[in-house]
Amino acid sequence: MGNNNRNKPCWCGSGKKFKKCHLNRDSQDSLTRGDLEQYSKKQNSKKVCSVSNLFPDKCSKKIINAHTVSKSGSLKELSEKGHVMGAKPSLSGFIKNNGKLTLEKVGINRASTFTGFCSVHDKEIFSPLEDEPIVLNDQQLFLLAYRGMCREIFHKEQNKGTANLMREADRGQDEFLQHALQGQASLYDQGVDLALRDLQYLKSEMDSILLDQDYSKIRHYVFELSEVPKIQVSAMVVPEMDFHGNPLQKLGLQQYKYDYIFFNCISYEGRGCFVFSWLTEDDKHCSKFIASLLELDDHEIADALVRFCYSFSENTWASPSWWDSLDSSSQQSITERLLQGTPMAAHPEDCLMDDGHSYGALKISKKELR
Ligand SMILES: [Zn+2]
Ligand SMILES: [Zn+2]
Repeated sequence: MGNNNRNKPCWCGSGKKFKKCHLNRDSQDSLTRGDLEQYSKKQNSKKVCSVSNLFPDKCSKKIINAHTVSKSGSLKELSEKGHVMGAKPSLSGFIKNNGKLTLEKVGINRASTFTGFCSVHDKEIFSPLEDEPIVLNDQQLFLLAYRGMCREIFHKEQNKGTANLMREADRGQDEFLQHALQGQASLYDQGVDLALRDLQYLKSEMDSILLDQDYSKIRHYVFELSEVPKIQVSAMVVPEMDFHGNPLQKLGLQQYKYDYIFFNCISYEGRGCFVFSWLTEDDKHCSKFIASLLELDDHEIADALVRFCYSFSENTWASPSWWDSLDSSSQQSITERLLQGTPMAAHPEDCLMDDGHSYGALKISKKELR
């Protein structure tokens, strides 16, 4: 190959010169476990306040381990000896379990936390949720959705780094594999970019609700629970299919923004609630999604919500004794869901449909569109 080509931009799209990128890639040392661990560590060290764009002067220097599922109320009620059950989809966890995910005991100080708020704003913004009785007013319902969204954005931005790691995974491989792996990395990267584009838009809309306290731009469907739920969650997703397996939104590379739904399950004073929230502008798919759920009876809804949480959020936490009380085939149905929606596996279209298991995790006493 002439000097000419060596100095041209590399075919992989990295923007580097070929000689600094894929020249001799096949003879480079492949990624080691140490590289992965180091990467994982670096990724986990990200610290930023999610509202520094709104109140830059008031941010404290100290970024804390913010809980998405309230520690004082919720997780404590769920925990046993300071532990809850959760999945830890970290690279090192993957390596340890040969690419499988299982539920493990996690200390509540580590469960559901993210370094996405400074100490001032974590306290100030979420005080109506943390310091006042839960009455499910507009402000509290909004804040639940807002906090889950900030976590999701925080993690998506972390994922941006994963594509860079994937671009290194072809070291030491032949040219054919190099092209295949770079193609995969590009697709993943474009997917993350598209998601970030949507999430940044959602954030700006949610920020304006936070600032103006105008709650007419967001809707909620609230399931009140008469007992402490056995699982708790805080997340948001693109509803891809409804609870009867009908497709709603197809994930892929598309120009227009998806409709998103937030969901939270918390407990307080011996009872709890499961709340779906969405911007009114996302009503088209979200209301269909909710309508399909409401076609089920309350017992079926409770089990459907468990299937939904484990298929769609790794930020789902469970009571250890509840988990232990499940028979092994119920546990397996949950474990299989943990990998759905990761880069390893898409969501099967029927993943929200009845799987024949009764989980007994939620007792619905009242339901209401807000
Ligand atoms: Zn290259
Ligand atoms: Zn701050």
